[in-house]
Amino acid sequence: MLASAATAVSFLSAGAAQAQGALVMYCGVQEEWCRAMTTAFERETGIKVSMTRKSSGEIYAQVKAEAANPRADIWWGGTGDPHMQAAEENLTVDYKSPKLAELQDWAVRQWEQSKNKTVGIYSGALGFGYNTELIKSKGIEPKCWADLLDPKLKDEVQVADPNSSGTSYTLLATIIQLMGEDKGFEYLKALHKNINQYTKSGAAPAKAMALGETTVGIAFMHDIVTMVVDKAPVKVVAPCEGTGYEIGSMSIIKGAKNMDSAKKFYDWALTPDAQKLGAEAKSYQVPSNKNTPVPPQAPKLSEIKLINFDFAKYGSSDERKRLLSKWDNEVKNLPK
Ligand code: PLP
Repeated sequence: MLASAATAVSFLSAGAAQAQGALVMYCGVQEEWCRAMTTAFERETGIKVSMTRKSSGEIYAQVKAEAANPRADIWWGGTGDPHMQAAEENLTVDYKSPKLAELQDWAVRQWEQSKNKTVGIYSGALGFGYNTELIKSKGIEPKCWADLLDPKLKDEVQVADPNSSGTSYTLLATIIQLMGEDKGFEYLKALHKNINQYTKSGAAPAKAMALGETTVGIAFMHDIVTMVVDKAPVKVVAPCEGTGYEIGSMSIIKGAKNMDSAKKFYDWALTPDAQKLGAEAKSYQVPSNKNTPVPPQAPKLSEIKLINFDFAKYGSSDERKRLLSKWDNEVKNLPK
């Protein structure tokens, strides 16, 4: 009797754990924010989250590699372009959240352009910054993209590799949209002479700049603001010619083993309560829910000269593949 009662109890508790469920998340923002989202969602729902943090292009590559037997349920964060590519390649599924009506137009447009397979969760403008101590000896204070080609900045500029990093792919697409493809690639080849390292992660140059490891770092302006808030000697620049921006996105993986948990996370991640966690983790993007307070530190998109970024074109599978392979062939391996 005792033995069978014990079995019944263990059955019951296994059932309860199952009812609460699990969720495998690939997370594309900064580690601190990923962890805050994981903890808060677990606390809110009892669903156990297994989270992996990677850069935008790396998550896309992993989701594609795992397509026959998906490991992840939800892909949250990172720039929109690989989310758009994954949508086109049927690696993710369409979903209409009841929260959609609360979102900014740019977040809904992202959803519409991807045939309802990815949605905007935040936005932020690309820019660069410099270490105010290190710049003194260089005799230049860069204000424009053009200034980053100055020979005084030889080996002093850092940016990520666009294959792994959505930040850096945003730079590639921004420069082409600002200058045209031929002139844009000329610019990137000239910039290559001043690059000291192509990092894997997009925010790494902002951190390196704060630590005095590079004079200039190209990154999302909000990532550089994080360094300023931490009192690093860093100045944020909105480039004078104008700049591109991202729509950080979220998608549900096709064949997700925990589909209900994925949808629960999706709806929750679009609420102001969840979106507020960004600023608390020192990530200062503009959130996509109209009712989420915009962190006062967030660079004001209305005050930055933004280009009319063509997210559909630069997120399309063919264009993204073509541009990345052209960058590999014509820029990355160029001798200095
Ligand atoms: N971290 C933050 C705060 C971002 O805004 C973004 C862009 O979506 C990323 C990370 C993406 O990083 P990566 O350029 O490494 O793909």
